[in-house]
Amino acid sequence: MNYNVNEQGYYGEFGGAYVPEILQKNVKELRENYLKIMQSPDFIAEIDQLLHDYAGRPTPLYFAKRLSEEVGAKVYLKREDLCHTGAHKINNALGQILLARRMGKTRIVAETGAGQHGVATATVCALMNMECVVYMGETDVNRQFLNVQRMKMLGAKVVPVISGNKTLKDATNEAIRDWCCNPQNTFYIIGSVVGPHPYPDIVAKFQSVISEEIKKQLKEKEGRENPDYLIACVGGGSNAAGTFYHYLQNEEVKLYEAEAAGLGIDTDMTAATIHLGKEGVLHGSRTLIMQTPDGQIVEPYSISAGLDYPGIGPMHANLARMGRAKVFAITDKQAMDAALRLTRLEGIIPAIESSHALAILAEAKFKPSDVIVVTVSGRGDKDMNTYSKYFEGQF
Ligand SMILES: *Cc1c(COP(=O)(O)O)cnc(C)c1O
Repeated sequence: MNYNVNEQGYYGEFGGAYVPEILQKNVKELRENYLKIMQSPDFIAEIDQLLHDYAGRPTPLYFAKRLSEEVGAKVYLKREDLCHTGAHKINNALGQILLARRMGKTRIVAETGAGQHGVATATVCALMNMECVVYMGETDVNRQFLNVQRMKMLGAKVVPVISGNKTLKDATNEAIRDWCCNPQNTFYIIGSVVGPHPYPDIVAKFQSVISEEIKKQLKEKEGRENPDYLIACVGGGSNAAGTFYHYLQNEEVKLYEAEAAGLGIDTDMTAATIHLGKEGVLHGSRTLIMQTPDGQIVEPYSISAGLDYPGIGPMHANLARMGRAKVFAITDKQAMDAALRLTRLEGIIPAIESSHALAILAEAKFKPSDVIVVTVSGRGDKDMNTYSKYFEGQF
């Protein structure tokens, strides 16, 4: 079984490049150049050095002893929370800005929801001295004050988007519109494994460094490259794609992913796209989408700002459809409990997104001999307001 993208840009029935006429030239230019550039020795040398010296890679694979005792299996944490800017997003932002430069682009646009991808993009634009415009829904601009300030300090222009629900979906529409209007000099840095082909493949490849490192590190620690389980959270699905990438074809390694159930999949306050979504086209890709019977996008809800996207990367729609990945819908409460458990057992405050992945440890059954790797996609600093409010009075 091939779980990777095919020549036409599809993962099974999902993916493709459904873009308007005006964008077809941009997408074609990218499609015809990305593999050649990303495989060239000087590109590989430059990205490897930046990942090492700037982003702080390799990130540790940490054996969580006390957590393992509680779970009753061997639990390792892949520490993407220790990356520069606090999450895995920098891996992809660094890769795409090098790609943009090799394609002769001078101006960067990006969309952001919670602001993490906006911060990663603004960071690499400062580093590379590129003009940076970040589209962000006005609702998110008001909710994510700290990240807005970070982007501005880094020199990015943050454009509040006032269309639709004024959140991530609307910001993405605006970023695409900008890219349409400025095809000559502008590169659109997408933050997850979503969008028209080849973006899902580009982002998955830049994040695949996560599983490349897991293989080496697990070999050193356990004497084998393969864990029994890999666990990650999915918003669009980039940290999960990176965690799974080099194991996709290896069916002995079970893939578990956590999507955000919000208040529960039987309520309308949820972001469980794989459980509840129907097929459709969103942001250039055929995938599962939370929508009404007549095709209106349903606004997703999760306590985690990074998981409330109404679509899902086509790779993950296919992994779920084929039964290759098992998808858990994790509620706000399950995630917050898992966050506090990790914090108290290991002294690590995870991002709320990552807490959804950690919650699977309490939901699934494991044997004492099982080796599990959970990717901690980011750190909890950005979420301290939400944590403090949620746990008010408990500590
Ligand atoms: C953005 C983000 C996510 C969700 O994005 P994916 O593309 O699904 O990885 C998860 N965790 C953190 C810390 C994030 O910043």
